[in-house]
Formats: sequence, structure tokens, C-alpha cells
Amino acid sequence: MSTTVRAAAKINLHLGVGAPREDGFHPLDTVYQAISLYDDVTVAEAEEDSLSVAGSPYIDVRDVPGDASNIAVRALAEAACRSPHHVRITKQIPVAGGMAGGSADAAAALLAHDRLHGLAQPDEVLLAQAARLGSDVPFSLVGGTARGRGRGEVVEPVTDRGSWWWVVVPAGTGLSTPDVYRHFDRLHPDAPAQPAEPTGLLAALASREPVRLARTLHNDLQESAIDLRPELGALIERGEAEGALRGMVSGSGPTCVFLCDSQEGAMAVMAALSASYDVVLPAVGPVAGAHVVEVL
Ligand code: ATP
Repeated sequence: MSTTVRAAAKINLHLGVGAPREDGFHPLDTVYQAISLYDDVTVAEAEEDSLSVAGSPYIDVRDVPGDASNIAVRALAEAACRSPHHVRITKQIPVAGGMAGGSADAAAALLAHDRLHGLAQPDEVLLAQAARLGSDVPFSLVGGTARGRGRGEVVEPVTDRGSWWWVVVPAGTGLSTPDVYRHFDRLHPDAPAQPAEPTGLLAALASREPVRLARTLHNDLQESAIDLRPELGALIERGEAEGALRGMVSGSGPTCVFLCDSQEGAMAVMAALSASYDVVLPAVGPVAGAHVVEVL
């Protein structure tokens, strides 16, 4: 028997970062949105533990661990799973791209394991397991558009009446999230303890107006990511010159996302950027959190 769960990539519409806490984590005030790029994770009963990873043609899965350090396998350990399983991951989400691909796989594995064995654990139990695996994992379970506080793991859905069109440009080589945070600390030795709040953005989400949302997008890590990868600044300028309402680094990068005024607008920006960039993808958000797509 096997269960397959699909989980979406995230972008951060707002990412406020405060000074590091005593435990070393940065306090965040963020607004996540799940967008239509997905990883599928199948958890199947097996004679012994094993893992396989495949990807869409544009995804380089060589950086995805093929052993027990893979976060989807760690998710089964977190779920206190005793019997052996085969885990199969099929990736569409760029690796180390600031889109929480590993977190999506962890959330998908937790849910697939729960459903495969008919555990039907309450949301609070799955969310607590998710939070122990990583700051973005609870959001990957919840999906939609949600505010994240604490280190990002305390999630609460927010009103989002829009259906927003994005163009996503992944980079060939990933950026390490800890490196980007370390650079943030160097650039901002006196960052405030309290991260910036997303007040204007929350009103924009409820308004359904893309121009308003474009004005309120905010990422405190963007400067650090561009400092480490100056070509991202040129990419953002180019996308905006081609008609995007606003371009920004997704989370810790290096993927950049461009908010467009409509589906047609996104197709036009995509066509223009495709002349210079190998991988340019359309996406819409918000979409659902981790959900079962196949039971065999
Ligand atoms: P975030 O946005 O949450 O900071 P990210 O999208 O930048 O994360 P991931 O794709 O989650 O980055 O990968 C980060 C690192 O995690 C990779 O370099 C890889 O070595 C490791 N990893 C472990 N398991 C996975 C997995 N299932 N998929 C992708 N990366 C994984």
C-alpha cells in the first residue's frame, strides 16, 4: 500500500527579520503564500527503508540527499514510524532556492505516513511534528496564505481574496539559507529585536488589487541575497522593465519571483525573460497545503 501527497512551494510576500534570539534563530514576522509548483512524495510499505528522488528536467536533484539525512526520511523518524518504507520524491520545486522545497517534502511525508496507516492524528500533533523538523514545515502543511511568527513556525491563515499571478525564475546554483542569514547579521548588527510587521500587505491581500500588493511586498533578506549574488539585482530590474509590477527575491533566494497584473501579463513577462534565462515558470497563488493525490 502507498499514499502520495502533493505539497507546494512557498514564497514570502513579507519577510521581516529581527536580531538573532538567544537560541540563535532569527525572530520572523512573515506572510507566506503557497504557489503552484509542487513536489510529490509517495510513502509505501516496503521490506526495508529506501529512498528515490526524481525531478522535472529543470531540477538538479544531485543536491538532494539520497540517504537518511533527507528531510522526508527525517519526517518519518519524527512521526515515530517503526515499520520500513520506501519514500519516493518527485521534485518540481527548485532545490536550495528559497522556496521551501525540503520543507514541502517533510510536510508531505508526515501527512502521507499518517494517512497510509490510518492514524488520523489531530492537526496540532502534525503541526508540532512539523515545527520540530523546520521553521517552514508547518506552513507547508497549512498552505494558502498565512502569517508566520516565532521563527516562522507559528502559522495563522490570513484573509487573501486574490488569485495572484507570478513568474518564477530559479537560479542554476542554490544559496545556503544560513549563509544569507549570516550576511544579514553582518549588514545589520543593530537589527531591532522585533521584526517589521506586514500591516499594509495584509490590507492589500484583502483588496484583490495587484498594484497595491506590489507596493507592499517586502523582504529583509533581499539585500543580503543580492550582495551575495549581484546578478539577482539585474534580474529583478529586467523583469520589472518587461512589465512585472514588482520583482523580489523569494525568501533567502536565489529564486526571484515577479508579481504580474494578470495571467496574460505573466505570460508576456515569461516570454520576455525566457529570451535570457533558461528556466522561467508561471505560477498562481494561493494554492492548498499538503494534500493526498493518490492512494494505492
Ligand atoms: P528554505 O526556503 O526553507 O530556506 P530552500 O528552498 O532554500 O529552503 P531546500 O530546497 O529546502 O532549500 O534545500 C535546502 C538543503 O536541504 C539542500 O541543499 C539539501 O541539501 C537539503 N535537503 C534535505 N532534504 C531535501 C529534500 N527533500 N529536498 C531538497 N533539499 C533537501
